Amino acid sequence: MPPLKLRKVLLKPGLVPLLDQLAADLGCQWGIYDRSQTLVMGGPAPGERYPISVDNEVLGYLQSPAPSAEGLAQLLNYACQEELAQKRLAWETLQRYEEVNFLSDFAGKIAACANLEEVVKIIDQELQQSFSATATFILLSNAHSQTLDPISFGNGAWRAHLDQLRPLFERVISADQAEILNNISPPAPILGEQKQIASLICAPLKIQNQTIGVLGIGHHQPIQYSSEDLNILLTCAPQIAAAIQTAQYYETLKEYSLTLEHRVTERTLELELAKKELELANQELERLAIYDELTGIPNRRYFNQYLSQEWRHCLREQSSLSLIVCDVDYFKLYNDCYGHPAGDQGLRQVAQVISQSLRRSTDFVARYGGEEFVIVLPYTQREGAYQVALRIQENIALEKIVHGDSPLGPYLTVSLGIASALPVRHHSPQALLKLADQALYEAKAAGRNQIASKVLSFRLV
Ligand code: GH3
Ligand code: MG
Ligand code: MG
Repeated sequence: MPPLKLRKVLLKPGLVPLLDQLAADLGCQWGIYDRSQTLVMGGPAPGERYPISVDNEVLGYLQSPAPSAEGLAQLLNYACQEELAQKRLAWETLQRYEEVNFLSDFAGKIAACANLEEVVKIIDQELQQSFSATATFILLSNAHSQTLDPISFGNGAWRAHLDQLRPLFERVISADQAEILNNISPPAPILGEQKQIASLICAPLKIQNQTIGVLGIGHHQPIQYSSEDLNILLTCAPQIAAAIQTAQYYETLKEYSLTLEHRVTERTLELELAKKELELANQELERLAIYDELTGIPNRRYFNQYLSQEWRHCLREQSSLSLIVCDVDYFKLYNDCYGHPAGDQGLRQVAQVISQSLRRSTDFVARYGGEEFVIVLPYTQREGAYQVALRIQENIALEKIVHGDSPLGPYLTVSLGIASALPVRHHSPQALLKLADQALYEAKAAGRNQIASKVLSFRLV
């Protein structure tokens, strides 16, 4: 608290008029001087000097020639005493107000911290400022290692002093008692380190009845920490302990949630991979269901679907649809001559030659079964279909697949039966297939390596 000033006491309302009145009643002159002998009120008055003092501290003098002036000095002493009491009250009220302000501000700041790092930062900042400290210390009890682990010691600058201070911290924890140490004996000098902790207040950090660590506020000079300082620290300590524990829980939870997140991501990836594998397997299954394993071209099931679909398209667009059935000549003899694996290879070659002989994107070839192939030619009339059949026959010849046992010549040949129609409602394409088979039969009967064509009779094309 700043010292009391005499001039300030004299400003008290009514005091000077009262002095004047009393002096007039006593019939004496008076003058009031401060400690430096400067006249601050009244007239210059010779005579006796009566000290004006409060709590043994002389603030000035009343000087008067009248012996009764001692009463005036007494009056001034009372006034000073009263002023001092008022000042003290105001000062203490202000102090309490600042403390409450600091505590509520501190509680708000620390409660808003999201992690341990932030908690430590706020403690360092706020306590150092509020206690004019040069270092704050937080050490937590480690239940596993039975040690006292520092999590803060004045931004690391005081790490070197930790060994010196550790016994003090341990004592505070084991005695479960806060301490003020205003004159710590200086430790042995530490090279390159000028600072030493001279004053320290320590308090245990507790949650309910469990001590989780210790909190210390230190200064490098032997400043006199008071019991009021200790009380403020004791008020902060439970909030600090709770904030540290909450931050620790939060970090454990965050770590756990990260592990969990990681596991979920891993599991999701595994599931996605399994899903992709399943999709691929399904695609493969679908492919196997509609493609011929030996030749790789569509199978009979796919052919049936495609024929029905194109029948409907051509019906809608009133366009002709042609179908070719192609059968390898004397293939039994080929097998007998070269063996089944060579026969398979021959069938693959024929499938490839037929595929390559088709030009339009809508033209379609499938293996119908055995050594028999079917070709669907949407939007194609009989003449066009004949051109395609001729091209297939020629390309097979060009391929020169040696067939030593064929009665028709040195190379493998095919016979082709064509059927064409302009689709009509209420008829299925099966009639077209039957007709193409008949045409094939005719081609075979005509000596093989032939093309025969027919037109479905329900409408001329
Ligand atoms: P044709 O000129 O009258 O058609 O005489 P062909 O010998 O070709 O006809 P046939 O129906 O008597 O014989 C068909 C042969 O086709 C019998 C069979 O061994 C062979 N064959 C059918 N499917 C396969 C196959 O997947 N692989 C092999 N290597 N041969 C097959
Ligand atoms: Mg055959
Ligand atoms: Mg056959």
